[in-house]
Amino acid sequence: MINFQYLRADTQKKAIDALAKDASAQFIAGGTNLVDLMKKGVTSPQRIVDITHLPLKQIEKVPGYTRIGSLALNSEVAEHELIKNNHPLLSLALQAGASPQLRNMATVGGNIMQRTRCTYFYDTEMPCNKRIPGSGCGALQGYNRMHAIFGASDKCIAVHPSDMCVALVALDAKVLVSGPKGNRRIEFEDFHRLPGNDAAKDNVLQQGELITGIEIPDHPFTKNIHYLKIRDRASYAFALISVAATLDIQNNVIQDVRLAMGGVAHKPWRLPAAEEFLKGKKVSEEIFREAAKIAMNGSKAYEHNAFKLKMAPAAIIESLKIAAKLD
Ligand code: SF4
Repeated sequence: MINFQYLRADTQKKAIDALAKDASAQFIAGGTNLVDLMKKGVTSPQRIVDITHLPLKQIEKVPGYTRIGSLALNSEVAEHELIKNNHPLLSLALQAGASPQLRNMATVGGNIMQRTRCTYFYDTEMPCNKRIPGSGCGALQGYNRMHAIFGASDKCIAVHPSDMCVALVALDAKVLVSGPKGNRRIEFEDFHRLPGNDAAKDNVLQQGELITGIEIPDHPFTKNIHYLKIRDRASYAFALISVAATLDIQNNVIQDVRLAMGGVAHKPWRLPAAEEFLKGKKVSEEIFREAAKIAMNGSKAYEHNAFKLKMAPAAIIESLKIAAKLD
C-alpha cells in the first residue's frame, strides 16, 4: 500500500499552486494511465491533485480556431458535430484509440500526457532510463518489436502511444498551458520531445504547468482524410504503425497535404519532406510511393522491429490512396 494525499482543486490557481510547490505531486483527471502507473509502482506521487471539477470541458468555435478544453472526454470530442464536420481527421483518430469504456473516461489533456507503453518501463525489475535515469534501457538489447524507427537515442527507443496526438500534430494544433509564470501556447509539434540524453522527460511542460486546452486552426482538410492504424488486434491495442493523411485536392492536383505517423517515435511524427514533395503534384499512386520513400529517410530499426521499415511506407501509401479516394 502506497500512501498519498488526495487534494481536489476547485480553481485553476489552486491546482497550479499545489503542483508548483511539490515536485512529487501529479494532476489526475480520467486516471486511465496514471492509476495503472501507480498500481505497478512505476510512479509514486505523494500528492494527487484532482482537476476534474475545473471548468475545462468546452468544445467551441472561436474566430480562426476550434478550442477544446483539456477535460473534454475523448468520446465527447470524437462524437461532437463541430469536430466531425470541421476536423474529421481528429474524430477518426480518437475512435481508433483504446476502447469505448476508456474513451468515456480519458480526457484530452490526459491523452496528451500519457506515458509510453514500453513493457520495460512498466516492469520495475528491468532497467529503464525513463523510469530511473541512468539505469539503462532494457528495450535496446531486449524485445523491441513495438519500438521507434525515428528519432531514438541510445538512452531510449520508446514510442508515444497516442492516436489523437498524431491527428493533432498533422492539424498544426497548439497546446494551451497555464502555470506559475502565466499562460503560454505551445505548437503541438514542439510539445513532445525526443529522448536525447534525457529519456525521463516526455514533453516540454515545466513544473506546475497545467494543460488547459488545445486550439486547432481552421483548415480546408475535411473531404480527403484517412487515419490508418495497424495493430495486433482490431481494438484496444496500441499502434504498430499509424498514419494520419489529409489532402486538399482541386482538379486532381494536391494543393496542400498533412501527413503524420504514430508508433514510430518518442513523439507524434510529422512528415514535412513528404508533404513538400506532394504539394502541386497530380494525384497518382506513383507520387504517393515517392512520398513514402522520402518519408522514410533517416529511419533505423532494432533487432525485432525491422518489419516497421516495410510496414511504414506501405501504410503511408495506403492511407494517402484512401484519403485521395484512389482505387
Ligand atoms: Fe525505458 Fe525507453 Fe528503454 Fe523503454 S525504451 S526501457 S521506456 S528507456
